[in-house]
Amino acid sequence: MSKEFPLIKVLNVPFINTTQAAFLTTVEARINQRQNTFIVTANPEIVMYARTDSNYQHILENADYITPDGIGILKGAEILGEPMTERITGYDTMLALLKWGNEQHKSVYLVGAKPEVITDVKAVVTARYPDLNVVGTHDGYFDDFAPIANDIANTHPDMVFLAVGFPKQEQLIADYRHQNNGLWMGVGGSFDVLSGHTKRAPKFFQQHHLEWFYRLITEPTRLKRMMVLPRYLKTVKESAHHQK
Ligand code: UDP
Repeated sequence: MSKEFPLIKVLNVPFINTTQAAFLTTVEARINQRQNTFIVTANPEIVMYARTDSNYQHILENADYITPDGIGILKGAEILGEPMTERITGYDTMLALLKWGNEQHKSVYLVGAKPEVITDVKAVVTARYPDLNVVGTHDGYFDDFAPIANDIANTHPDMVFLAVGFPKQEQLIADYRHQNNGLWMGVGGSFDVLSGHTKRAPKFFQQHHLEWFYRLITEPTRLKRMMVLPRYLKTVKESAHHQK
């Protein structure tokens, strides 16, 4: 874990507590220096999963930065009496870095999502960020990541975005990050949103911290995954109680 930012632990997961802007400045400087950087953007689902998988917990502890992606993490920190500044989501961070990478003529490698989605992602990124060099793309339905990692090593991108969902994306990054000095970040379902295959919640839902509710009504199959939230809040409350 890098030491530039204060950390707030929510159920043993150390989150950075800073602004999106300050975080971006730090990450951009590290990319300029070609420092090997692993960012995890974590939500309550990830925090609860880490409790059941010690290997995943270990992977999180060895990331350079874990950011609070999801209002549930801010809620958890508040319950613990350690309020956090703001959310730093994977999607917004990725968009900001693509924009910056375009201005700075950086290079990027994109892996993840269904074949038709990654094709559209490539088209959107090259159209919207013409000065950003997309050195490689691959869909997220591969049997072996090793050949893709080889290609990443050969094309030497400044940034790698891996969108295969947790815990797989973080496990792969932990295993292969040494093959390329640059940024490695897991971005979950971001490619589906970026390509327009999934709609991001309208502004109203975003502003009222109801993105989760929008996703629930548009993708009811997510209900099972969201059932973890009440259990998460209960566990945080219990841990707050123990701290007293
Ligand atoms: N995915 C993938 N390979 C897999 C499983 C999933 O590329 O083996 C992709 C899937 O197509 C989707 C993303 O990973 O684009 C996961 O999206 P989800 O919304 O579940 O992720 P979250 O942001 O909630 O972590």
